[in-house]
Amino acid sequence: MALEEKREKRPPVTPMMIEEEAALRNGSRGLTPGPWAEAAGPRPRTTERHIAVHKRLVLGFAVSILALLAVTMIAVLLSVRFEECGAAADGPPRASGNGSLSGAARQPPGAGQPPGRPEEEARGGEAAEEEEEEEEEWQRRQELPPWARPRLPGHLRPLHYNLMLSAFMENFTFSGEVNVQLEVRNASRYIVLHAHRMHIEAVRVAEDKLAGGVRVARTFFYPQTQVFVVVLNRSLEVQRSYNLKIIYNALIENELLGFFRSSYVLHGERRFLAVTQFSPTHARKAFPCFDEPIYKATFKISIRHQATYLSLSNMPVETSVFEEDGWVTDHFSQTPLMSTYYLAWAVCNFTYRETVTKSGVVVRLYARPDAIRRGSGDYALNITRSLIEFYEDYFKVPYSLPKLDLLAVPKHPYAAMENWGLSVFVEQRILLDPSISSILYLLDVTMVIVHELCHQWFGDLVTPVWWEDVWLKEGFAHYFEFVGTDYLYPGWNMEKQRFLTDVLHEVMLLDGLASSHPVSQEVQQATDIDRVFDWIAYKKGAALIRMLANFMGHSVFQMGLQDYLTIHKYGNAARNDLWNTLSKALKRVGKSVNIQEVMDQWTLQMGYPVITILGNETTDNIIVISQERFVYDSDAKPKDPSRGDNSYLWQIPLTIAVGNTSHISSEAIIWVSNKSEHHRIPAFEEATWLLGNINQTGYFRVNYDIRNWRLLINQLTRNHEVISVSNRAGLIDDAFNLARAGYLPQNIPLEIIRYLSEEKDFLPWHAASRALYPLDKLLDRTENYNIFNEYILRQVASMYLKLGWPMNNLNKSLVQASYQHEELRREVIMLACSFGNKHCHQQAATLISDWISSNRNRIPLNVRDIVYCTGVSLMDEDVWEFIWMKFHSTTAVSEKKILLEALTCSDDRNLLNRLLNLSLNSEVVLDQDAIDVIIHVARNPHGRDLAWKFFREKWKILNARYGEALFMNSKLVSGVTEFLNTEGELRELKNFIKSYEGGAAVSFSRAVETVEANVRWQRLYKEELFQWLRKSLTH
Ligand SMILES: [Zn+2]
Repeated sequence: MALEEKREKRPPVTPMMIEEEAALRNGSRGLTPGPWAEAAGPRPRTTERHIAVHKRLVLGFAVSILALLAVTMIAVLLSVRFEECGAAADGPPRASGNGSLSGAARQPPGAGQPPGRPEEEARGGEAAEEEEEEEEEWQRRQELPPWARPRLPGHLRPLHYNLMLSAFMENFTFSGEVNVQLEVRNASRYIVLHAHRMHIEAVRVAEDKLAGGVRVARTFFYPQTQVFVVVLNRSLEVQRSYNLKIIYNALIENELLGFFRSSYVLHGERRFLAVTQFSPTHARKAFPCFDEPIYKATFKISIRHQATYLSLSNMPVETSVFEEDGWVTDHFSQTPLMSTYYLAWAVCNFTYRETVTKSGVVVRLYARPDAIRRGSGDYALNITRSLIEFYEDYFKVPYSLPKLDLLAVPKHPYAAMENWGLSVFVEQRILLDPSISSILYLLDVTMVIVHELCHQWFGDLVTPVWWEDVWLKEGFAHYFEFVGTDYLYPGWNMEKQRFLTDVLHEVMLLDGLASSHPVSQEVQQATDIDRVFDWIAYKKGAALIRMLANFMGHSVFQMGLQDYLTIHKYGNAARNDLWNTLSKALKRVGKSVNIQEVMDQWTLQMGYPVITILGNETTDNIIVISQERFVYDSDAKPKDPSRGDNSYLWQIPLTIAVGNTSHISSEAIIWVSNKSEHHRIPAFEEATWLLGNINQTGYFRVNYDIRNWRLLINQLTRNHEVISVSNRAGLIDDAFNLARAGYLPQNIPLEIIRYLSEEKDFLPWHAASRALYPLDKLLDRTENYNIFNEYILRQVASMYLKLGWPMNNLNKSLVQASYQHEELRREVIMLACSFGNKHCHQQAATLISDWISSNRNRIPLNVRDIVYCTGVSLMDEDVWEFIWMKFHSTTAVSEKKILLEALTCSDDRNLLNRLLNLSLNSEVVLDQDAIDVIIHVARNPHGRDLAWKFFREKWKILNARYGEALFMNSKLVSGVTEFLNTEGELRELKNFIKSYEGGAAVSFSRAVETVEANVRWQRLYKEELFQWLRKSLTH
């Protein structure tokens, strides 16, 4: 699963540039009421549901009573033995909303009433008493009943599912019949499996190969654990196999999880599609199943739908059976052993293009017909073919299925989801129009595809045993984004370079908080599971894997992975399985490292160390290396009060090199495992500097004594190329963050970036730009902001002049353009425009004016986002209107996204407020984009308080909308709070948390710590920084 990447795309708008460039404005005409002015407000989903449930409740009860009477009479008259147990046969209304026994699975669309949500409905009658008695019995035994335990009880194992579905797109309902073949491991009267938000019509249990059924005593939902319980009259016998049949129906939901619907407009007509998102715990909303990753089984799926649609699933269609009434049933081939959360299906009327890999895998890209016609899917299709070949070669394990479909959908909770053989992508992460996409966009699309394809092995084929190790699959997929992109574009140096800024530096920001958590997290409740999909799992996971690959050596690491995948394919594996396989691979090449022992310290402890290297003044060649846990706010209360920061220790593979003006020694690994250690190093002369963590392969920061920092700064100024590109970026990031946390004087990082005027590589500029961003946000509303602003402008000016602006490169292929050079130029232009370089502002304004007057967009692709944003922030409301209009009229998803983000750059608070209100209207802004709008407004110093206020006022709506996709919520919470930095704002945050109801608790505690650290920095270091800047600027 790929989360929405937070690659920085727009310049931080600062008040400086707005004031300076006021002359650019041509008047202050009021806003004409455009199409957005009368947009409707958001409608809370919760209210609708509340009313619907209430109606169903009353109706359901009445119907159930009638059905009960009818069935009892029939039973008495005919002495029928009921093997099937629907709601009516089950006695009082329990698991039913409409009490009908006639199989609704084949009901025509629109017939009958919408399926109820049984677990939300009233319970009562004898069965409830029975259940209470049963619960008491369990209590007496001092045991939780099997349905109340957080995990499935484990006495049954599903071997195979036959799943027949009928999708009714007219009224967005579906019905299903699932037959599960069960193996009994321990005798039990109970069948407990997951089922959530569905209406169960009938249940039947039969012993395989024997005609006789097993009588069902009763059935009930237990919503607390999202399970459905079948209580039998007798125990299922060990080592026998049984068949469980369940007939049910449910809604095709208008939300983002389970089996849900979405729509798009083609030729002015709205078309619908329905697609699934089961990871991590939503398969249970689409069919009753054993919805934990360890219960791998084979699946045979059939989908019945109107012939105007097509259906897709993990496997290819084996046969299609057409009916006379315009319906068709697609029968898909049987899957290999797999986990429920990787199952997928879709009903849509998309078209596709196709390619075939060397090994014969058929790859298709399905998307809305206009996008396919335009060729927007061709890029993704082509790289997918190459990447399957790459992974097959790298892992030495062939792709397991006969086909892979990539499905581009307009609405999805994540960037993409790696369902086996049917991976689903949100359009913005897979469709690409080469004529109007920037390199950055191409990079995003590429990396998401590389990520999902890696999962076909790490995830689909070998699945983590349980969610605590989700970082294993996500860390690998994230790490391979860089390795796989290097395969496609060998000159880009993704793994060696871009990984640092986009992963390592990014996650060390988060993991440096006292409220962080270990990458392996204990997970008990289903509700905890969403929590583990966060940047710590993805980015720290990837950073740890990279460190491991580096200290093992890449070829041994690769061999180890091949063994791991071969041993565990079609099964599950935990982290220790991986560590063992990797240790064995190392042993084979004669090295002995206990990988489990080393890695446990990195995966089970939160945070990371800062290493301090001190040259010993009295004895030559001896250095003192010490480690401590790095935290931004040393006043923050430790999350686990039983252990202070002092008790954190890691085994650190530290590489060290010594250098002088023209030479750097080759590095050696020193394993540091104590608080403080003495080490001997070669040739330690006067004016020789030390550099730790060579090429930043390790997941830690390095600090030095001031003398060594000075020597390093001298080196960078005189001849920076002696130090590697990665280490130049690393020094910048470490220095800024060490200073922010108070480990280092505030002037050191600002002195380091002075050498940038000579820096021709992209990465150090990128590292600087990213490190300056949070500092800028700490300062952008302070009185003396212009001093800081001016200092940065001075550092940027000469490189900006040297590089100039890109030519209009509309006819040039993106891939041919020099990535490094274009990215560097883009970065420098972004810094120049953000901090108010006059030429940069003029240039942006000229480009925008030209577009408006000629109605031809000649703005170079790679800087469009910067130009749009700068234009909106500097120029008058007409420009805003123009961008708004373009946002509506463009069909290219990449363009749509940057136009929408540009609208948040305005300094007009009315416009920002109206944009915020519109963001919740799904007709105008896609659900997944609304969060970006709010976050981007919060980054604008003119909008920060508006976004923060809007967030608090709409919290209930936002939480209802995104609550289940917790990742989105936590992205939102950090997005609107991370730059709050005054005592007043901190108070507001704390008061809000006191008053809010439920949800996102972890995000809020992180937010409080971040804001506290911001306030603390303001108090302790702001003045020190300004004093140095003042002095420096007068020299
Ligand atoms: Zn993933």
